[in-house]
Amino acid sequence: MGCASALAIAERGAQAVVLERAVPGAEASSAAAGILGAQVELHGPLREHKAALFTRARDAWGPWAAQLREASGIDVGYRVSGVLRAAIAETERAELASEVAWHQSRGLRASLLDAAGAREIEPQLSPSVHCAAYFADDGQVDPPALLRALVAAAARSARITIRSGATVQRLLVEHDRCVGVALDDGELRADAVVLAAGSWSSLVPGVPSSLPAVKPVRGQMLLLDERPPRLRTIVFGARAYVVPRGDGRVVCGSTMENAGFRKEVTAAGLEAILSGALACVPSLGAAQFSCAWSNFRPYVEGDAPLIGASPLAGLFLATGHHRNGILLSKVTADAVAAAVLTR
Ligand SMILES: Cc1cc2nc3c(=O)[nH]c(=O)nc-3n(C[C@H](O)[C@H](O)[C@H](O)COP(=O)(O)OP(=O)(O)OC[C@H]3O[C@@H](n4cnc5c(N)ncnc54)[C@H](O)[C@@H]3O)c2cc1C
Repeated sequence: MGCASALAIAERGAQAVVLERAVPGAEASSAAAGILGAQVELHGPLREHKAALFTRARDAWGPWAAQLREASGIDVGYRVSGVLRAAIAETERAELASEVAWHQSRGLRASLLDAAGAREIEPQLSPSVHCAAYFADDGQVDPPALLRALVAAAARSARITIRSGATVQRLLVEHDRCVGVALDDGELRADAVVLAAGSWSSLVPGVPSSLPAVKPVRGQMLLLDERPPRLRTIVFGARAYVVPRGDGRVVCGSTMENAGFRKEVTAAGLEAILSGALACVPSLGAAQFSCAWSNFRPYVEGDAPLIGASPLAGLFLATGHHRNGILLSKVTADAVAAAVLTR
């Protein structure tokens, strides 16, 4: 969110400094699966409100991926690979049917497939898969590549300075206005400050206590190496999802845990992901295990991200994106830049 917002602000002609305590992309953004799940991720009480934002966010990705390649020389792995939500129990059919009908009634592409239809889209699906909802327009990017591209594009911009190893100690507030930040080595004053500290956003001293708290939701992930590459489509099962990159790498995720900031990968977490993944795609059992990691989704009560102006003048928000921060990065950056530059 920090790098993307800086790029959008610089594009509009202003100067920006990205302040990062470690290196940009050190946390959730590089750890993500990179699913652009505008439809598969639409559930919960806010689904009606989120539909327009999520699909607009997905639409923004094609042009933005090309723009980032141009600006950085790095391909972010943008692909419209489609998503299957697979059901193994017969009892899930009614739920999938009503989900598909909801999307169709809003003019979004979605279909309910029987077992044969689902396997036509993804031949590696388990014979136990009973039926599936198919969202052909959902896609993916490769988050580590995306973060390298964002940092490279920001570093090449004459209007952006990146300061790695710069921890924001607190916001500077004068006369009810945020006028900059205090760092270890002094103060940095600015016309606008964008809070983009992910799961740590509420921990920055000076952030108004009236803002909803941002809390970490741990997600564990693992990477398999499938040779030769067989899987083509992103598959969501009841307990796990699998994301084939197209070159043999298959990212599998993920847990949703309230574990504070404990960045562990646990035996139970890996077991849950692997058993859920293999239940949908048994052929992954022969894939080689590469590595595993975990990180923190920035979650706000009610699951609505905090984007744009805040109650404190001079402070703008780009945080609380929970499971969908990669999907929402470009639309958030544009909204924040517009808010900053029009005050
Ligand atoms: C396992 C997992 C899977 C996910 N999968 C997907 C997915 O498939 N699709 C999707 O759209 N989203 C996904 N997400 C969600 C997405 O990754 C996040 O919503 C998004 O990356 C949040 O971006 P951010 O910039 O707010 O936070 P972060 O990427 O965490 O960045 C916050 C940065 O702020 C820095 N920071 C914190 N405090 C300070 C301070 N005081 N001073 C200076 N710097 C500070 C941190 O070092 C960090 O680099 C996933 C997340 C996880 C954890």
